[in-house]
Amino acid sequence: MQKIKIGSHVKMAGKEMFLGSVKEAASYGANVLMLYTGAPQNTVRKEIAALNIEAGWEYARETGIEEIVVHAPYIINLGNTVKPETFELGVTFLEKEIKRTAAMRSRILVLHPGAHVGAGEEAGMKQIIKGLNLVLDENEDDVYIALETMAGKGSELGAAFEEIRAIYDGVHKRDRLRVCFDTCHVNDAGYRLAEDYEGVLRQFDEVIGLSQIAAIHVNDSMNPCGAHKDRHANIGKGCIGFDVLCRIVHDERFAQVPKILETPWLCEEGSKEKTLPPYKEEIAELLKG
Ligand code: FE
Ligand code: FE
Ligand code: ZN
Repeated sequence: MQKIKIGSHVKMAGKEMFLGSVKEAASYGANVLMLYTGAPQNTVRKEIAALNIEAGWEYARETGIEEIVVHAPYIINLGNTVKPETFELGVTFLEKEIKRTAAMRSRILVLHPGAHVGAGEEAGMKQIIKGLNLVLDENEDDVYIALETMAGKGSELGAAFEEIRAIYDGVHKRDRLRVCFDTCHVNDAGYRLAEDYEGVLRQFDEVIGLSQIAAIHVNDSMNPCGAHKDRHANIGKGCIGFDVLCRIVHDERFAQVPKILETPWLCEEGSKEKTLPPYKEEIAELLKG
């Protein structure tokens, strides 16, 4: 049997940068990891030379970490037609982020498709497609854009599988697209993962194709199916439950797909500050099954 590819989202900060990310992932017993190339909520980024990529990969080789996934900052909103500056910033930032992803030797850049911010779904969808074409038409890097399935919070697009499919249909270089399947978001979007795992996957397969899943975010959800909230819960502590999350981790159809936990950090006894990463224990429990 093949080793399951599992890890979590880790930090990339301080002096060590990528080396620190790899050390963190190794401490969780992970063999894959996901990182943001800087703060997820802004576009301030260090030069590629300052990311400490070589030292990180050397440590990764020693500790059995073979693959990394990059997540684009959520400030990128290709769906914005209301503020042209926001759209333009999204396009130029995404171009650079693809370069950084390639420089970090990752093939997968996870992207939230975008939000229409009041302009309506149709306008938002068109704008997302336009943005992706602007970026991909000019880019030849060996990097996939993995569109994340969204919870449908606010005016977010990409909660329905059909919306992701419509983006594929509008993008010229659709072979550069993949999907990041987030279990919390899929639940919150209204797909009945907890009761009907196979049915949801069948639906996904019919609309987009299971082969398009290039990353899985393994999160429980604090809210019931269809809540459109996007609040991640720890594994087995939410509305999806341990069994289904375990099932997706062990699903042979996703043997090649990195599974990334983005569950919340925990508080120490008597404290209200979240200082304890849950990943080591959650990874071990999921692997045990
Ligand atoms: Fe995300
Ligand atoms: Fe996610
Ligand atoms: Zn989320």
